[in-house]
Amino acid sequence: MTAAASARSILTQLHDVMASRMHAQGKLDRVVEIIGEALDSEVCSIYLLRDGMLELFATRGLNQGAVHVTRLAMGEGLSGTIADRIETLNLAEAKAHPDFLYRPETGEEKFNSFAGVPIVHRERAVGTLCVQHVDPRRYEDVEIEALQTTAMILSELIANAGLVDEEAVRGLTVEQTGPALLKGLALVKGVACGDAVFHQPRVTIDQIVADDTEAERQRVYRAFDRMREQIDKMTAQAEFGVGGELEEVLQTYRMFAYDEGWARRINSAIDSGLTAEAAIERVQQHTRMRMREIDDPLLADRMHDLEDLANRLLRIVSGQLGTAATQGLRRDTILIARNLGPAELLEYDRRRLKGVLLEEGSLTAHVVIVARAMGVPVLGRVQGLRGVVNDGDTILLDADSASATVRPAQPMAEDFAARMAASRKKQASYVELRDVEPFSRDGQRVQVMMNAGLRDDMPSLALTGADGIGLFRTEFQFLVSATLPQRDRQTRLYRDVLDTAGDKPVIFRTVDIGGDKAVPYLRPGAAELDENPAMGWRALRLALEREGLLKAQARALLEAAAGRPLNVMFPMVSEPWEFDAAKAVFEDQLQFLRSQKKVLPDQIRYGAMLEVPALAEVLDQLAPRLSFLSIGTNDLTQFLFAADRANPKLAERYDWLSISIMRFLHRIVQATIRYPVDLGVCGEMGGRRLEALALLGLGIRRLSISPASVGPIKELVRKVDLTEIGDLMTGFINSPPDNLRQALQAWADEREIETD
Ligand code: PEP
Ligand code: MG
Repeated sequence: MTAAASARSILTQLHDVMASRMHAQGKLDRVVEIIGEALDSEVCSIYLLRDGMLELFATRGLNQGAVHVTRLAMGEGLSGTIADRIETLNLAEAKAHPDFLYRPETGEEKFNSFAGVPIVHRERAVGTLCVQHVDPRRYEDVEIEALQTTAMILSELIANAGLVDEEAVRGLTVEQTGPALLKGLALVKGVACGDAVFHQPRVTIDQIVADDTEAERQRVYRAFDRMREQIDKMTAQAEFGVGGELEEVLQTYRMFAYDEGWARRINSAIDSGLTAEAAIERVQQHTRMRMREIDDPLLADRMHDLEDLANRLLRIVSGQLGTAATQGLRRDTILIARNLGPAELLEYDRRRLKGVLLEEGSLTAHVVIVARAMGVPVLGRVQGLRGVVNDGDTILLDADSASATVRPAQPMAEDFAARMAASRKKQASYVELRDVEPFSRDGQRVQVMMNAGLRDDMPSLALTGADGIGLFRTEFQFLVSATLPQRDRQTRLYRDVLDTAGDKPVIFRTVDIGGDKAVPYLRPGAAELDENPAMGWRALRLALEREGLLKAQARALLEAAAGRPLNVMFPMVSEPWEFDAAKAVFEDQLQFLRSQKKVLPDQIRYGAMLEVPALAEVLDQLAPRLSFLSIGTNDLTQFLFAADRANPKLAERYDWLSISIMRFLHRIVQATIRYPVDLGVCGEMGGRRLEALALLGLGIRRLSISPASVGPIKELVRKVDLTEIGDLMTGFINSPPDNLRQALQAWADEREIETD
């Protein structure tokens, strides 16, 4: 019999046992017989984890009296070593191994050779499967592989039959079952509680033994083809001028994707009778074990790539392509992910999504802005997140103190519930400010507006009592849509927004797509692909080139605002002519509507965003043409510091309260002061109290911020004397303190002005 044929015959027998109606213990007893027989071994034993100890559950060849009696700690004896290190042992002379431990009740002294493999469930050992033999010989590779495959099948049996304690069934070690405190970076403040749900769920393997090996082979071939196509596409796009890390990662991906050795190993696992999914997983387990033996951080990184790729292959082959959003949330959820795109987040049900934990993330990444708009707290940059949290764990997210507790003990959970109640009370206190106008202590009125992007954001306008929508990000409709939103859909949205806003002004920003807001249906061609999308073909640049897009939007806005005022703002204006060109598109559409005798807006105010530093140098030319100017500090600061706003490594490196940013903003205020242009800030920094204080001190009188910040900022305005903070900031601009943040904080503390 060939090795493959004998492996298949073992699998068929195991399959029959698993499919039988026998109880779990009976199945284990049969398995040790089958394996012992097939591997010509006097002994075959199964140890399973129970109460943190490995217990002998079934054996052929050892004394039956030892079953459920012999127990080994993790790391104790050969079985304990296998489970502890999750590694395979293959020894001609077991007694020669330093970890060998003799247990008299088993009667194993007469056996020389020993081979054992861990039974792994969700990457953690839940038991071991061992064979022993009188003759001192090492087992052959095919025999070891047969053991590994059997261990996989056993892992399913164990998980389904409740053979070991709940924690072990879930594949958890003791450290991963107790409470754990995670630290990170607070990206969106707030507190929340819910169950962990992984954004990309694990692929579940329903069938391990194949019914038709040839069909499985074809499935895996096709999956390989598709995966290679995807990787080729990714690399081909990146090849356009990309160097450095990304290219390296993609090239490694590509190397793995085309690795014949990998494909061959999967194929031979299929030959032995496994399904495509089980074969991929088996090979992956094997690789994981081998890699673990090599203690090299570089290799660990590569391992991560290979894992990613194997998961991709698994998802393709099993057709389980969706995210947790596709499957729908069933309970209050804390979402777990490495990173997310804004559109991915928007796919989740807002009623169930209570919080987000990310391994990466930065303050001004769009996904974070979206989360802020949704009122969902986000803790980012949580190291090792996905290794500590298990699906379904209870999580107490306290982004206010930049931490989260996983699997909390009861008193902790009660304490947290009390804090959540206090936080709700605090929020409620802002409701009292809803109808209070934000006048400063010295009687100056500050405009506190809110940012929005979806219909669902609109109720916040009345709830917070904001002065209007200072930034309506029209691209959100594009982001949540699978295809380009048609003009009538745009018109409907804009009309609804204006209807809800009533007398309060709404500033519509024309689409700002590109950068980290990529939409699949508006991808540039490969030749135009941006190496650096934030500085690339995005926002107004894209809109002016795809004039049809801007025309449609212009028409939609003009029609929606029929009979009422319309405020239009253009993003990423870099030179005045771009503003003129964009305005001309609107004026053309206006002309057309006029010729059609349509009802026109009462008044149209055009404005620009100042996000590109170069624009600040030509404000004398641009300002006279503008009704308003909004400083988009998210983009502006990333360009000033040449620090990608979405790069987690830079998330904390530069401070918004740096003297260079303050001086830059100060110059903008001074450059526009002589024009009747309404100047405001609509970046995230305006929503943080200390930063807002600085902006007010620089002379900014209009802030547009996320709805959750409206209450806190209104409260702040009412406590501040604007003349006094103005003098302070002027002093700081002229002769900066060593640490501007600290100096400002001290000033606020002295006056008992609460900051974040
Ligand atoms: C900004 O850049 O500050 C801004 C408000 O626009 P967005 O965050 O949408 O890029
Ligand atoms: Mg911007």
